Amino acid sequence: ASPGPHPPPAIRVRPLTCTETRRGDRRVVHSLGDGTVHVSAARHDATFGFSAVFDAGASQEAVFEGSGMRQLVELAIDGFSSTVFAFGQTGSGKTYTLMGPLAQSKAQPAAPALLGLMQRSFACLLERSRSCGSELALSASYLEIYNEQVRDLLSPGPPCALPLRWSKTCGFYVENALSVDFESLEAIADLLLQALRPPHCPPAGSQRRRTSAHALNKHSSRSHALLTIHVRSRAHELLVPVRAPLHPLSPAGHCISLLAKARGKRMHIPYRDSKLTRLLARSLGGSGVTLMVACISPSSRCLSETLSTLHYASRARRVTTRP
Ligand code: ADP
Ligand code: MG
Repeated sequence: ASPGPHPPPAIRVRPLTCTETRRGDRRVVHSLGDGTVHVSAARHDATFGFSAVFDAGASQEAVFEGSGMRQLVELAIDGFSSTVFAFGQTGSGKTYTLMGPLAQSKAQPAAPALLGLMQRSFACLLERSRSCGSELALSASYLEIYNEQVRDLLSPGPPCALPLRWSKTCGFYVENALSVDFESLEAIADLLLQALRPPHCPPAGSQRRRTSAHALNKHSSRSHALLTIHVRSRAHELLVPVRAPLHPLSPAGHCISLLAKARGKRMHIPYRDSKLTRLLARSLGGSGVTLMVACISPSSRCLSETLSTLHYASRARRVTTRP
């Protein structure tokens, strides 16, 4: 069965942080629970309609179940190339939505209720794998794109740029990207812990800790992390190979606005302009299914970014594909 077009984008409004409350930021974004988002401030008054809106009180589980993420995982198991990505300004809740709160270590795992879309997807994949007698083989690769350089976040050595190649059968792919098999939630959680260290920094040591918050923000707004889960069917490998990548990606900003504009028209989509869009070309425009989660801050100080994220999400609703 065809899964149809991309699922509609989901909107998540995070709560005001302690810092924002302490300094007296006003809450200018409200949701009435009917799929509408209201932005009201001195000179702005706008209402947006979406099919899935999650307000400050929404749990991580509610986002997983209500955004279409579970169905996306099911589609990946059925062989469709599935992608989820979070977008929004720095500090809007992308990392929280995808991975849960930071500051975890092996000794202090996050409370299960706070786990993000990624861990919930892994749990779902592993559950399905077990229920069909471990017929699914799961492996992960994890890449960062920063300043048009691709590097492997799983490789233990010093960071080195990996080349992007193209083949007829696979489309664009990253050569020599490490792919690690995993069979448990703990194993993939360990991989994610590596993800939690600030990207593009040496793996350990005080040097990284001394990086200023400003520099980290500056970095994270230009960096894209791409975690790919490959789902292979062991039982049917010879007959019907199921080799579907599931990409949770954070954060991607502009790669789909042209697709939204191009709807119905024969427009050139410049996938080749950036490595991120090359790697996502199939998922976004071609044969894949992509769920977008727009993250916004409710604070008065973020008003203009919030409005642009909401406009962007509205346009993204118009992207359709033929998976
Ligand atoms: P981004 O990845 O978009 O830069 P983060 O995910 O790091 O933003 O979120 C910024 C801050 O807000 C973090 O301290 C995070 O823990 C907090 N936060 C984000 N979303 C939520 C939420 N839904 N509930 C509670 N705290 C949140
Ligand atoms: Mg982040």
